[in-house]
Amino acid sequence: MIQSTLSTDLINFDTLPAASQSKPSPQTYLDTRVTKSQRGTKRVRSQRARERLRTKEHLERLANELHEVELADKLRRCHLRLSVLTCGRHIAQIIPNFTCEFRLCPDCGRRRSRKLQNKYLPMMRAFLRNRRITPVHLVLTQTHRKETRKQSAKRIKDAFVKLQRRAFWKEFFKGGTWSLEFTKDKNGLHHTHLHIVGFRRKFFDIELLRGEWLAVTGDSHVLNLKPILDIATGLREVVKYVSKPLDIRRFGAEDLREFLKLKNMRMFGTFGEFRDFCKDFEPSDNDAAVGELESLARDLVEGCACPQCSAPLFDLRLSKSELPQFYEQIESLPLGKVGPSWN
Ligand SMILES: [Zn+2]
Ligand SMILES: [Zn+2]
Repeated sequence: MIQSTLSTDLINFDTLPAASQSKPSPQTYLDTRVTKSQRGTKRVRSQRARERLRTKEHLERLANELHEVELADKLRRCHLRLSVLTCGRHIAQIIPNFTCEFRLCPDCGRRRSRKLQNKYLPMMRAFLRNRRITPVHLVLTQTHRKETRKQSAKRIKDAFVKLQRRAFWKEFFKGGTWSLEFTKDKNGLHHTHLHIVGFRRKFFDIELLRGEWLAVTGDSHVLNLKPILDIATGLREVVKYVSKPLDIRRFGAEDLREFLKLKNMRMFGTFGEFRDFCKDFEPSDNDAAVGELESLARDLVEGCACPQCSAPLFDLRLSKSELPQFYEQIESLPLGKVGPSWN
């Protein structure tokens, strides 16, 4: 996937309902200078699994180059052997033998972002209930400067803290979540974005927000704001940067060295009133039902009915390099036929 630094739109029309596809809603603010980020066309699972595999091999190579022996070994062992619970047509669960928990590992990142979604979606839904607020996806950007990744991240986070202290922000926003995304421009300068799911109290002129951002950054006024029509989709869009904070395949050994220095930096967090709400949140029966999210720990075992088609599940042992192939086999099945045999 090509990651360009400039794009003509940041609004992903695929995520909007048909009615709004012809033209952005009046609340949609379109800024032509915001980066395209990691937007891409929908790929099938086998492709995504293959990409994850390549990304990990690439990271392992870089770690070896840097003589980060322990990291390289962890990456090699992560998801090396898999216990796949499948009916032959669907995959109900994948249990890896080992997880490396490295921040840039695509497999561990996926699990981490799913965990965050499971945790925050019920809270967001509860927060939205009985409050006159609208969820929005706000992207804050800053000017490119010659600085380290760490300095770049700190600069944008500090500016965001300042923004939250402004009277304007307090009047219009009731908190939300943030996550960091890192890109580099063609001159090698770091470009850090802050992706925010914000809960907006009332509508305001986007130029005012732009002015506020300029006031706290001193030189940046580029931002993008769009309404979130479905909170689950909106949260997923922001949380994906937790699993993919940057484009790793364009990453060299020096980039990895620099990234390792970020060790304890937070990449995701909550803020404002929503943050306080999360601290005291106790889910009710209502909130516990997060049906559309894949559960992390389903109590499924061999012989259980497949949650999607009720056929009996069996346990398949695969190595990590065999998983994309297995997805491919599932994808090639004609609809309605019985699952493939797999040796
Ligand atoms: Zn991992
Ligand atoms: Zn099934």
